[in-house]
Amino acid sequence: MVGVLCSIDWKSFLKRNKFHLNLPKGKIINKTRIMKTMTCKQLGGACSKEFHANTFEEIGEMSKQHAMDMFQKGDESHLKAMNEMQELMKSPKTMKEWFGNKKKEFNALPDNK
Ligand SMILES: [Zn+2]
Repeated sequence: MVGVLCSIDWKSFLKRNKFHLNLPKGKIINKTRIMKTMTCKQLGGACSKEFHANTFEEIGEMSKQHAMDMFQKGDESHLKAMNEMQELMKSPKTMKEWFGNKKKEFNALPDNK
């Protein structure tokens, strides 16, 4: 089961696809105005937990962390969602399209006020 998670290497995936991962360390929330919100479900997960970030890369990182937490808890719906992502990742083209669409979706969101 652990293999499923390990093979989702988001960072190298994003790098390969020329997204810039320049994540500030520490408490982003206190320093930067939070602009946009996406849910776990919108990001290929399984629940309605909300993530807030200014960039798609940041929100991707947050959903990854959350997915790992849920994975460790053995949450069934998240395991299922991750398996589906895993299927998607078998094709780099499909995966790239998925990321592209999500990024568009994120950028199209209204800013949080
Ligand atoms: Zn979730």
